[in-house]
Amino acid sequence: MNPLSELTRIFDKVYAGERISYEEAHLLYAEADLIELGMAANARRQQLVPGNLVTYLIDRNINYTNICITDCQFCNFYALPGDTEKGYVLSKEELGRKIEEALALGATRILMQGGHHPDLPFEYYVDLVRWIHETYPQIEINAFSPSEIEHISNISGKSWEEVLSALKEAGLRGLPGGGGEILDDEIRKRVSPKKIRTDNWLGIMKVAHKLGLTTTATMVIGFREQIRHRLNHLQRLRDTQDESLEKYGNGFNAFIAWTVQIENTPLGRSRFRDEYGATAAEYLRHTAISRIFLDNIPHISASWPTQGIKVAQTALHFGCDDFGSTMIEENVVSSAGAPTAVKCAISVEEIHRQIRAAGYIPAQRDTSYTILRVFDDPNYVPPQVELPPVQPQPAVLPLSEVRVRRG
Ligand code: SF4
Repeated sequence: MNPLSELTRIFDKVYAGERISYEEAHLLYAEADLIELGMAANARRQQLVPGNLVTYLIDRNINYTNICITDCQFCNFYALPGDTEKGYVLSKEELGRKIEEALALGATRILMQGGHHPDLPFEYYVDLVRWIHETYPQIEINAFSPSEIEHISNISGKSWEEVLSALKEAGLRGLPGGGGEILDDEIRKRVSPKKIRTDNWLGIMKVAHKLGLTTTATMVIGFREQIRHRLNHLQRLRDTQDESLEKYGNGFNAFIAWTVQIENTPLGRSRFRDEYGATAAEYLRHTAISRIFLDNIPHISASWPTQGIKVAQTALHFGCDDFGSTMIEENVVSSAGAPTAVKCAISVEEIHRQIRAAGYIPAQRDTSYTILRVFDDPNYVPPQVELPPVQPQPAVLPLSEVRVRRG
């Protein structure tokens, strides 16, 4: 069959609501016209999430520590143990202040992640979650990532399920999908050789699904990977989702991809530096393919921190039905040079403006994608709320001051 009629046949499958194969996705990725891809991705979005709403979440990212022993080649966020200039562990007072600022902005969730600290004991994590849950019961806690859960499991000798069950009992409601990058070990061995491997990342997510936690799937492109590596990632996600939905009736509720940032990182200093990263067109192509291929993950979010707000707005026409979250604070991607590095936060007013300008209606959601409020009055302008100033992270706390309730 000639490639053009083959592309038409694959697009017809998408418009008919059918699943496409790995090989078909590869052909679309390599050959399809970008605008046609966007239209097909939007058709898939309408099959899975019909209507004209684009959702967003009011939340805050909090990085409880930047001390890490994993040395990812794309990371400028972490500090090695013993680095008292750059390294930090947030005190409960500092955490409480950040959460109260988020609550004042109407946040319904905190997303809390950190480095792989070699000395924080298992009890630290459980105590941290319990303290936040008991002190601020009105905010949902989504925290850690499969790579942190693997790390906590390694230092404690507990299984993934024991770790996640204890955290859930303490108040954890969701496990974010951080640390996924490219779920293909050929790439992972090159850019993050000490970090969690594909099978374990997915295995920990399956345990989270079994326990009823809310999860998202993430992906980072631009590591000099090829189309096959990207599709391997999407295939593993789709297979995992099929399995989790069948076994547990619970799976990833959303997928989000972004592009790697390499400023001030070992990748940015390498001789291949110009080959890392991805253009806006590549990001949109990848977003559209993901929406078409991941026919069992309902929501796809646009990423404004790495590609900028205008590209994120365009992604709403490439299959995305969600504008992500306000974040308020972001330290990991921004420290490696995202375009919005100066202020990795976006106001609700700005989100509304971008969604409306793209032709959609903004709607606030919670972490489970339950709609909290639809803003269908085109003249409605959200109250202008000043975002909290970005504050320097505090210095590292001695472990004796990281209060842990043992036992
Ligand atoms: S990306 Fe995460 S795991 Fe990797 S070095 Fe940075 S903080 Fe550590």
